[in-house]
Amino acid sequence: MVKADAYGHGLALCAGALAASGASWMGVTCVEEGIALRRVCPGARIVILSGIWKGEADGLVENGLTPVVWERDPLQWLEMAAQRSGAGPGQVPVHLEIDTGMSRQGVAPERLDSLLNRFGLESPLRVEAVMTHFHSPDNEAATRQQEAALARALDIVAAAGLRPEILSAGSSAAALLADADGVDALASRMGMKRMLRTGIGLYGYSPCAETAAGLEPVLSWKTRVVALREVEAGTRVGYDATFTAHRKSQLALLPVGYADGLNRLLSNRGSVLVRGRRAPIAGRVSMDQTVVDVTDIPGVECGDEVVLIGKQGEETITAADLAQQCGTISYEILCDLGPRVPRILVDEPAGC
Ligand SMILES: *Cc1c(COP(=O)(O)O)cnc(C)c1O
Repeated sequence: MVKADAYGHGLALCAGALAASGASWMGVTCVEEGIALRRVCPGARIVILSGIWKGEADGLVENGLTPVVWERDPLQWLEMAAQRSGAGPGQVPVHLEIDTGMSRQGVAPERLDSLLNRFGLESPLRVEAVMTHFHSPDNEAATRQQEAALARALDIVAAAGLRPEILSAGSSAAALLADADGVDALASRMGMKRMLRTGIGLYGYSPCAETAAGLEPVLSWKTRVVALREVEAGTRVGYDATFTAHRKSQLALLPVGYADGLNRLLSNRGSVLVRGRRAPIAGRVSMDQTVVDVTDIPGVECGDEVVLIGKQGEETITAADLAQQCGTISYEILCDLGPRVPRILVDEPAGC
C-alpha cells in the first residue's frame, strides 16, 4: 500500500524500494495517485482502492490501473472506456469489493446478483479478485462475522459462474497478528490465491498498540536550529503568549511548523531531540516555526541537528508517541508530513 504518498514517506522513493524488494502489486487510493505511480513503476500491477469518477475511466484503462468496483455506474464507464481502448472480452481486470460490515464501500452479498450479470462473456471486464476490508482486525469476533459474509459472497460469485483468482482481504494487522483471520482457509476452499494489503507495517509501525514487536520505523524527520536567544524570566513566547519562561532561559528556533505536519496539539506538550536530549516545545507551534526550550541542554549551537521523529543518542521519538500526545494514530501523524519537507533516501537507492 503506497497510497497517500506512501503514508507520507514519498511515493517515488518508497515504490522504487518496494518494487526492488519484489513487490509486484501496489495499492493507491485514486487514479491521480495511480498515474503518478505508473510513471515510477511501469511494470507494477496497481490497484485503485477508492471509487472513480466518470471522467477517470479512460485514464485508468490507458494506464493499466486496476479499479475496485462495487456499483453499476462505474462499471458502465469502465466498460465503455475499455471498449474505446480496443480491449477484447475479459481483458480489463477489476477487483470486486464486498461490503462485509464496514459500510464504507462495496456491495452487500444480498445485492451481488444484480451486479454479477454485468460480467457476461462479451464484457471487456473480468473479476480478477474479490476483496473486502475488515473494520476491527484486532477483534476476532468481528472479523469472524465479516468472514462469514465474505464466504456467502464467494458462493454467490461462484454460482454465477465467475472464477476470480484472487481473494484480497486483510491489512497489516493480518500480516502481524498470528491467526488474525480465516481468509487463508477461505481462499484455499475456493481455489483462490490470497492477497494481503499491507500498509502501515511496511513503514515500521503497528496498526494497533499491542503488536509493535519487531518493527522498526523507516522514517526519521529532522530539522536544524536556525536561531537561539536568551530570555529573562517572565518572557512570554509565541502566539497567544501561552508559554512564560520561569527562569532565565535559552530558546531555540526551529524552521518547522504545523504546515509541515508538526501538529499544533503538540504546543507546550511535545518535545524534540537536540544533542541527544529532550527539548520541550515552548508555546504554540506556528504554521512555519516552533520554539523549543534548550535551557537544560548545554552547548546548543545554530545548525545543530534536531530530531522530530527518530533517534538521537539514547532518545527516540516515534510517530506513535506523537500520535498519543495528539489523540490520534501514527497513520495520521505520518500522512500529515507536508510537501515542504524533502524526502531523502538514506539507504541504497532502488529502481523498479
Ligand atoms: C489503507 C488500506 C489498507 C492498508 O491498511 P494498513 O492498516 O495500513 O495495513 C488495506 N486495505 C485498504 C482497503 C486500505 O484502504
